[in-house]
Amino acid sequence: MSETESGFGFSVLPVTPFEQNATLVWCTSTMRGAIIDPGGELGRLREFVEQAGVTLEKILLTHGHVDHAGGASELREQLSIPVIGPHMADAFWLDRVEEAGRMYGLHGVHNVKPDHWLGDGDKVEFGEAALEVIHAPGHTPGHVVFYNPPARWAQVGDVLFHGSVGRTDFPLSNHDDLIDAIINKLLPLGDDIEFVAGHGPMGNFGDERRNNPFLNS
Ligand SMILES: [Zn+2]
Ligand SMILES: [Zn+2]
Repeated sequence: MSETESGFGFSVLPVTPFEQNATLVWCTSTMRGAIIDPGGELGRLREFVEQAGVTLEKILLTHGHVDHAGGASELREQLSIPVIGPHMADAFWLDRVEEAGRMYGLHGVHNVKPDHWLGDGDKVEFGEAALEVIHAPGHTPGHVVFYNPPARWAQVGDVLFHGSVGRTDFPLSNHDDLIDAIINKLLPLGDDIEFVAGHGPMGNFGDERRNNPFLNS
């Protein structure tokens, strides 16, 4: 768990056999927050939120893949809070979460229709904190990144990983779009930005700009 001076806190819980980094974010003065990508294991996730002392207001989705979005519909039912995001270009993925679950052996996952879609430049607020939305297509066409400027922090989903980038061998994936989004939309935010990726360890943009082999070819 990490809380910054900027009034923003976050904590990561890997869920599903894909070790997807479900990410709890909150406003430290009101303890109101949101969960990004509740892919599954809702019992563990709810316990995690409770231990952090956060009141969940929103479910946020980076993109429509089953390991990220699989638990969103059921969590919305349990807590009566809205599902927000990703960009509507991922609607076709959210309509086939159950099909993907069968393919990958993930049980208890559900298709989900978000209450609100997100677009580039949107803002998502909880308490006195907010995340800016950056549309970063390529891994999926509707992928979004959540960015908190005061904390110098981003949740980049499956766009960028420490030492790697997102897969682009899915329907409507596009490798050039992915690299373009990373180089022209994410890295310019600053070398000091720390990020949580959809899988694996945290990183910072400076390290990736200098050392990520997929950005330096
Ligand atoms: Zn993905
Ligand atoms: Zn993923």
